Amino acid sequence: MNAPALGPSTSTDTSPFAAAFSSATIAVDYEQPEADSPGAAGVCSTRHAWARVPVEPSQTERAALKDQIRHLLKEKNAVMVSHYYVHPDLQDLAEETGGLVSDSLEMARFGRDHAAQTLVVSGVKFMGETSKILSPHKTVLMPDLDATCSLDLGCPVGAFSAFCDAHPDRTVVVYANTSAAVKARADWLVTSSCALDIVRALKESGQKILWAPDRHLGGYIQRETGADMVFWNGACIVHDEFKAFELASLKKEHPRAKVLVHPESPADVVALADAVGSTSAILAAARSMDATEFIVATDNGMLHKLRTLNPGKTFYEAPTAGNSATCKSCAHCPWMAMNGLADVARVLETGANAIHVDPALIPRARQPIDRMLAFTAARKAGQPVAGLVPQIGAA
Ligand code: SF4
Repeated sequence: MNAPALGPSTSTDTSPFAAAFSSATIAVDYEQPEADSPGAAGVCSTRHAWARVPVEPSQTERAALKDQIRHLLKEKNAVMVSHYYVHPDLQDLAEETGGLVSDSLEMARFGRDHAAQTLVVSGVKFMGETSKILSPHKTVLMPDLDATCSLDLGCPVGAFSAFCDAHPDRTVVVYANTSAAVKARADWLVTSSCALDIVRALKESGQKILWAPDRHLGGYIQRETGADMVFWNGACIVHDEFKAFELASLKKEHPRAKVLVHPESPADVVALADAVGSTSAILAAARSMDATEFIVATDNGMLHKLRTLNPGKTFYEAPTAGNSATCKSCAHCPWMAMNGLADVARVLETGANAIHVDPALIPRARQPIDRMLAFTAARKAGQPVAGLVPQIGAA
């Protein structure tokens, strides 16, 4: 990948989704910043994350930590909010104590609306930041502040702002997996559960879109909606690894299995899906589809909830490059894996690992989030959404 190429690109991307782009679409190549380069947001190396994954506690330690956390949650007026990709212990404990396990959209909404003054967010940093932006007067704690995301790391605000400046006629739509500073440069925030609806509404109101940072999700949205979009060239290191050839082979081994795919996956993997959607949509599909076997192309942390909610059904992990002899990739996010019970107990006890977002950024960063929440709430209530889609970029 090359340094940001602002403006019309001579992209060398030969992937199927790139080939499907309209001539109005511009692909932007982007190189992950090196750790020691000036202004680098961080290097997308997962070695450090894997090295920080907590050791599994023994059954006795696990029980003691859970008791301690239950007690501390009450004492500190706190609630746990966990993502589907974190350790099953953190998912179960969140639900058992009156908190939530969900996708990033529902995590943000729940944290905003809950009466607790302290939110313990198990997930990755952008989720904690989003909670803080929506609830600036609450304390937001995270088990490990270094748990981040390749999409966030790969979209530093300086280069992203320059990209936006180069396309002033476009409405800026960013995925939730971005820093507070990038959100503050955006017109809309979307998650994978509402991106299609929002981009479709923007297209219907005549708007052209600048999309960041996930190129696979952006490509999927563009194919589904036909919207005029330009793309930042980011990817999720987990979903980017799913392989179509190996998936097709696994499907042959399990001919009755339905394939559920998260749209952060490459286009040729999405093309093999029986259902495509966010983590919540994957859960809904597994419950409602007339099948007892499923192949799942998303982070394998999701399998816990899928199996718990569907005891009579069988779920297989979709294959990644890690199936080859030398590659170590797997369908699990190393940053999600950094969240553990001991750190939840520690931050509740000490108040360490509080999320801080520059107060000067919060009002602007909140705008695109509030737009998304208002849009999704109206959609859920069956209300018209046209009035919620202001003309931001000149059509
Ligand atoms: S699974 Fe992918 S998108 Fe989610 S936090 Fe990890 S790197 Fe980011």
